[in-house]
Amino acid sequence: MEHTSYIELSKSALTTNIQFIRKILGDTTLSSVVKGNAYGHGIGSFCPMVYENGIRHFSVFGADEAYKLLSSVPKDITVMIMGQIENHQIEWAIENNVEFFVFEEDRLNKAIEVAKKLKIPARIHVEIETGMNRTGFDTKQLKTLFHRLENQRENIQVQGVCSHLAGAESISNYKRIKDQQAKFQRAQKLVKSLGWTDLNYHLACSAASIQYPKTQLDLARIGILQYGFFPNNEVLVQYLTKNKTVENPLKRVISWKTTVMAKKEVKAGEFIGYGTSFFSSEKTTVALIPVGYSDGFSRSLSNHGKVLIRGERFDVIGIVNMNMIAVDITSNPKIEKGEEVVLIGNQGDAEITVSSFSDFSALVNYELLTRLPANITRKIVE
Ligand SMILES: *Cc1c(COP(=O)(O)O)cnc(C)c1O
Repeated sequence: MEHTSYIELSKSALTTNIQFIRKILGDTTLSSVVKGNAYGHGIGSFCPMVYENGIRHFSVFGADEAYKLLSSVPKDITVMIMGQIENHQIEWAIENNVEFFVFEEDRLNKAIEVAKKLKIPARIHVEIETGMNRTGFDTKQLKTLFHRLENQRENIQVQGVCSHLAGAESISNYKRIKDQQAKFQRAQKLVKSLGWTDLNYHLACSAASIQYPKTQLDLARIGILQYGFFPNNEVLVQYLTKNKTVENPLKRVISWKTTVMAKKEVKAGEFIGYGTSFFSSEKTTVALIPVGYSDGFSRSLSNHGKVLIRGERFDVIGIVNMNMIAVDITSNPKIEKGEEVVLIGNQGDAEITVSSFSDFSALVNYELLTRLPANITRKIVE
């Protein structure tokens, strides 16, 4: 059964974005970051589109996402778990060639134990702490760690060495990012000097690959750019300035749509919806739209949100309900039940962007997108 609203994913927009990323990255391998249910786009629908664009490397946060990914695309891909894998999921990962970050002893011990039992080596990426202070081995531990890995070569196949930057999208973090970069370079030198010369080094996310191109190294883990967004306006403005252009090279992949569920005339002098947040000072025509905060339409858009119908913008009036919003269509009362409503996307010449949407609700693109529930129907369009 279809959901009350649907998400459209544009193939041509994705191709544009991937071409742009490839141009930025040059020879560096692109790993498509599809954590958070592919930033709300839906792993099952989005990943096959990425695959069709020739991408064969994917990064997820957890083993559950790796599983979903592997059931959505052909098996000739590399899957990298950057975050959580429970000890009991390691067997599945090894058997399915799924690579994972190792940032502490316990996971390494378990990987060795399971690999020994299965007689298949675990493919790991050694994550090192460079200054984010989140996950990663201390650089002081590296010498001992790699000596140990040397003796575990039949159980552990080290694929890469990596770290993550603590906010490359903002110039206010410049010093910290530069320090992280330098620390990573020192670690890279050390590991190479221990005889590990054929590893993949990776550090960059979307922001870093644009703002600090030297961080691209062998592999870049790219999330937000694929979906057609710059990490923030600062990165976009910097990019445009540097390239002497005013044209955003990226295209939004996602649109979110539904239809008018019902209509009602409300006479002047009435409250509309729960409580007293909207008062009809004149006769008002209301369209009821079957989308609410349970669908990711934030409650903070109460009396603030906009939707498009017949290519025009209309105001959300009253409180965003769990499954419904009311829209004031007094200026165009001929709008009928069943007509298309755009929550994010284009209709005629009008557009509701994700960022205008998120500015209203004080959420950044990343958060707003990932709030879109997995059960909304996804449709692929050209
Ligand atoms: C999310 C994530 C990325 C990708 O970040 P974007 O800003 O979306 O490109 C890269 N690396 C790690 C470890 C991440 O968690």
